[in-house]
Amino acid sequence: MLLSMASDRPYIAAPEAESQNRSAVNPTSRSEAVQPLEPALYVVATPIGNLRDITLRALDVLGQVEEVLAEDTRMARRLLDAHGLRAKLSPYHDHNGAQRRPDILARLADGASLALISDAGTPLVSDPGWKLVREVIEAGHKVIPLPGPSAALAALVTSGLPSDRFCFCGFLPPRTGARAKVLKSLATVPATLIFYESAARLKASLSDMADQLGPTRQAAVARELTKLFEETRRGRLDALRDHYCAEGPPKGEIVILIGPPDHDGPGEAELEAALLRALETQTVKAASAEVADALGLPRRQVYQKALALRDDRD
Ligand code: SAM
Repeated sequence: MLLSMASDRPYIAAPEAESQNRSAVNPTSRSEAVQPLEPALYVVATPIGNLRDITLRALDVLGQVEEVLAEDTRMARRLLDAHGLRAKLSPYHDHNGAQRRPDILARLADGASLALISDAGTPLVSDPGWKLVREVIEAGHKVIPLPGPSAALAALVTSGLPSDRFCFCGFLPPRTGARAKVLKSLATVPATLIFYESAARLKASLSDMADQLGPTRQAAVARELTKLFEETRRGRLDALRDHYCAEGPPKGEIVILIGPPDHDGPGEAELEAALLRALETQTVKAASAEVADALGLPRRQVYQKALALRDDRD
């Protein structure tokens, strides 16, 4: 049975139906008795919108661990309630992590099994947890991943952009100057770039992206994935920028993806952006050699362009 919920959590399975389904389809619970958990920190992915995207193994582990460390215990309680689970919850987030880690390590040393979850998706992916994982490893305890949803991969596979090589870049800095600097450093990366972004900053980010990476780069804006108003808009950076400038900020959660530089023929803007960046720290000869190699262009052509840019600048 599906119930309509608030727009950020549109689908929810009735817990009883879900648990009946689970025992019917979960091979672990049918053919093997669920094993007691080994002591470890379990890093558990949870849905990014659609509550049915929880894995069977995540439900097993969340139902068995001694305690679930949650970025936000109220959100975690909603998730667990929806699946009929009654786990002990405690908060673990950026503001209390340093205080909590010694106690968590001591409990793991005593043989505890603990799970880490974030508000949505995979913990540590633009979410708290990496310092904890690092310290757990350093202390010689086990870290066990329970893979599942992540907005970055969901957006990548629906973007239509090359997926053989991708670079997850998290959130860009909120201020234009810092954002432009990061984008410049990514302009020649030969991979699809993936950014998390807020709806309010989408326009400004797309504008800076078109300026720094070139307006012709293929891109996609994926919004509200797995939710009721899921949408992916694809096109050149300048077209996407113009669309969101005209329409105003969209609602919901957003991933921006930008295809790799086009090695069949980078646009003039892309060549200029790369050269200007390289000329900040290198001679004309070194800068043009580096950019020519990165963009797959003849060195002589790039050298001529670099000379012109330097003359314009001086
Ligand atoms: N750990 C999460 C993951 O694995 O995807 C990401 C957490 S990060 C704090 C939240 C950001 O992820 C949002 O601002 C948005 O950029 C992206 N995001 C999360 N859920 C999304 C969804 N359903 N659709 C599109 N983007 C989403």
